[in-house]
Amino acid sequence: MGEYMLRCVSDRSVQPAYSLTCPLDNSLLRADYQAKQIEPKSLPGIWRFMDWLPVQGIIARAQGAPVTYKSRGLAGELGLENLYISFNGCWPERGAKMPTCSFKDLEAAPTMQMLLERGDRPTLVVASAGNTARAFAHVATLTGQPLVLFVPEKALSRMWTAVPAGTAAGMGTGIVKGAGQVILMAVQGDYYDAIQIAEKVQSLPGFVAEGGARNIARRDGMGTVMLDAALTLGRMPAHYFQAVGSGTGGISAWEAALRLRADGRFGSVLPRLHLAQNLPNAPIYCAWKGLEAEPVCSDMFDDVLFNRKPPYSIPGGVRDALQETRGDVYGITDSQAAAAKKLFEQSEEIDILNAPAIAVAALEQAAIAGSIEPKDIILLNITGGGIARIEEEHTLNMLKPSITISHWEQAVLFLEGKK
Ligand SMILES: *Cc1c(COP(=O)(O)O)cnc(C)c1O
Repeated sequence: MGEYMLRCVSDRSVQPAYSLTCPLDNSLLRADYQAKQIEPKSLPGIWRFMDWLPVQGIIARAQGAPVTYKSRGLAGELGLENLYISFNGCWPERGAKMPTCSFKDLEAAPTMQMLLERGDRPTLVVASAGNTARAFAHVATLTGQPLVLFVPEKALSRMWTAVPAGTAAGMGTGIVKGAGQVILMAVQGDYYDAIQIAEKVQSLPGFVAEGGARNIARRDGMGTVMLDAALTLGRMPAHYFQAVGSGTGGISAWEAALRLRADGRFGSVLPRLHLAQNLPNAPIYCAWKGLEAEPVCSDMFDDVLFNRKPPYSIPGGVRDALQETRGDVYGITDSQAAAAKKLFEQSEEIDILNAPAIAVAALEQAAIAGSIEPKDIILLNITGGGIARIEEEHTLNMLKPSITISHWEQAVLFLEGKK
């Protein structure tokens, strides 16, 4: 299970396990799995798709997985006959149990498992404006994997986990202290300041970068959205809609579709990627449309969609994904997103995060413009939701920062003091 070779997309050269970069150019690496046809396993959550995840074992308590269902409410509003929703969040009635309510849970679990299998137990370093940090904090708490998080002060309110502190079991081997393994550093500044500090710390011995879009475990974890849909429908959808910041989810959907095409049982036409960004902070939209990028403004409908340097033009990146799937990118305003959010929540009867509302608005635009047909099989990725539900059923623990910093030297001093 999960046997693969790591290859550069640009020249297919095989690279050592756990590489994040290619020697000759800035190409992404991709897992070339031994299993050419996927056989779902009777394992919990996304581990069912283990043939196409870069892991040998599982984290049994990380059970979040996408749930694909046929829409009635939103489909009716938009006049679509075959609209399927991949719900990635917390919605117990539909069996959606993502512990931190966003599809970052799909990335965090296989990333952590791959890291555990390396054997040398480096401390993972993650910079995030919110959902990613929350997902990694949760899975680190489950596994006891040491983790250092750099989060801008403004995003601290998103740093909750629903695991009661002190009760998490590490790999079934006993009890590890709840938040003891997770060091949260609040950064005075924005997301980019947090990234820059994280980059310094990652380069120190004993620490490892999680790698973002370059990490195959992250991408193949997110790719399970497409796998779950294809296995549920018995075929690939014709269209895939998602709100993007970095576009990693779009690359992942494309890569999963390439594997499904090669499998032979799910159709031969790749789903068209319809990626949506929030105007005016929309570098992927601008690059795809050939527009000058707008200057960055700090207030966004959802700042999890903020990324100044998306993996757009690198081999295997977002542009390749869009070109090969005959895809498109949509620019969505705040007011369009707010209206779409309301439409979704009223018609599907579940709360969603702001980011996926951008994808709903893009779907609406595509339906009106006629770029999708009413009968087309469409997959809408709702990348996060159900926070209201989890708040009803769990007490959320706020993670408190160990220290607040403005320079990377402060982070290093603090970590040395911990040794
Ligand atoms: C991170 C995130 C996205 C965007 O993901 P990409 O990495 O750009 O694919 C969309 N929605 C939510 C809720 C997210 O947390």
